[in-house]
Amino acid sequence: MEKTLTSLDTIVSLAKRRGFVFPGSEIYGGLAGTFDYGPNGVELLNNLKRAWWKAQVYEKENYYGLDAAMFKHPRTWDASGHTKGFSDPLAECKECNARIRVDKELAAIGVTADEKMFIEELNALFDAHRNEIKCPKCGKKNFSAVRAFNLLVKSNLGDFTSDGSEPVFLPGEASQGIYLDYKNIVDSMNPKIPFGVVQIGKAFRNEISPRNFLFRTREFEQADTQYFIRPNENKEAYEHIKQDRWNWYLSLGIREENLRWHQHENLVFYAKDAWDIEYNFPSIGFDELEGIHDRSDYDLTQHQEFSGVDLRYTDPETGEKYIPWILETSVGMGRMFVAVLADAYREDELGGEKRAYLALAPRLAPYSAAVFPLLKNKPELVAKAREVYLVLKSAGIRIAFDDNGNIGKRYRRQDEIGTPFCITIDFDTLGETPELKDTVTLRHRDSGEQERLTIAEVSTRIRDAI
Ligand code: ATP
Repeated sequence: MEKTLTSLDTIVSLAKRRGFVFPGSEIYGGLAGTFDYGPNGVELLNNLKRAWWKAQVYEKENYYGLDAAMFKHPRTWDASGHTKGFSDPLAECKECNARIRVDKELAAIGVTADEKMFIEELNALFDAHRNEIKCPKCGKKNFSAVRAFNLLVKSNLGDFTSDGSEPVFLPGEASQGIYLDYKNIVDSMNPKIPFGVVQIGKAFRNEISPRNFLFRTREFEQADTQYFIRPNENKEAYEHIKQDRWNWYLSLGIREENLRWHQHENLVFYAKDAWDIEYNFPSIGFDELEGIHDRSDYDLTQHQEFSGVDLRYTDPETGEKYIPWILETSVGMGRMFVAVLADAYREDELGGEKRAYLALAPRLAPYSAAVFPLLKNKPELVAKAREVYLVLKSAGIRIAFDDNGNIGKRYRRQDEIGTPFCITIDFDTLGETPELKDTVTLRHRDSGEQERLTIAEVSTRIRDAI
């Protein structure tokens, strides 16, 4: 019987053991809320980004890519509301000074709360449930009152004053770059409304309690799409985008039963509607993977007001001028990465042995294939395997070469990193059985089945799969 994943720890340890994700700054004891993508992790991450870019830019019409600078004029964050309103509700343990994020602790005991509520409202809720919430560090229940804690991270970029009075913030979210360049895109590309602008960019947040692996970190990447539409033409487009984003996760191979919709109850004053796609994260349960927001004309109106620059769109046919409305989709690449890893994780028994493998979609796997010589100590097998490896490599296939340990161990290693195909070079490849000369065995990751094919057939098979 095939088993899927129930605990996040299994993924955390596989990720470290197999070079996907390492804790940040580990040799110095770690830096909370940071992680490093290792050699296999960066391949999976880049494959995900490439697939996302292809779906959001190349396969759509009238969508444009952007890579805006991380640092932005400080007024950006005043206009966006981040300097005043980008905060999470925090309470401090009076016994051990540990900090908790109040809305998440309330939600964990079944009390509806979120960071968009007024602080007075959260304090009242917290007071009503204080004795049900324990400090995660010391276990006591002696907390301070709730206060709003701003999440923006400051830098001293270009600030030569000694008092740090003019901080340039690190981006609290990636999307602001799109608003700042909206006019440049309109002037240089002449897009006709409706049109989309997409960007993958870093975000930094002083999260009160970073936790759950890549789910809540202080540094992360967001893949954002801002879709500019005519005022009041939001409803149909919003439904279309929601469906499109749902289908994207299915296209990654994520099982539909692990996805669900969540509609926001507390909308910020300018928002028309807001939904999240939630994923059933192991150990966490269903929680936000991607936010899809109907934001009216708020963002561009704010930047027009704060910058003094006219950000109205001029309809090329009617000459009508207006501030476009925006439909936004935003997903953290780290959360997407965990969802894909967790969903692909399987345990089963093959040839009487237990194994774990990642049933990753072939186009996402760090390696598309691996080549092995049957025996490491037979130079003619190793030489032929090297030759096949180089032929496939020059055909543009991302390929590994492995002659470490016995074949069974090599299969297990590749299974655990999700390599869809393993190719073994044996004596028949060299012509021991003349009619099998220049054929190899191709082994399929999920079923463990093997077939005998020519090297050219193997190359086609792999290219078709990715
Ligand atoms: P949450 O309620 O979980 O704090 P959010 O509603 O503040 O998330 P958004 O500001 O809408 O999140 O950000 C868009 C996306 O960025 C989220 O759907 C999530 O995938 C990702 N994201 C947000 N915060 C973090 C974080 N601290 N670590 C990793 N990814 C994050």
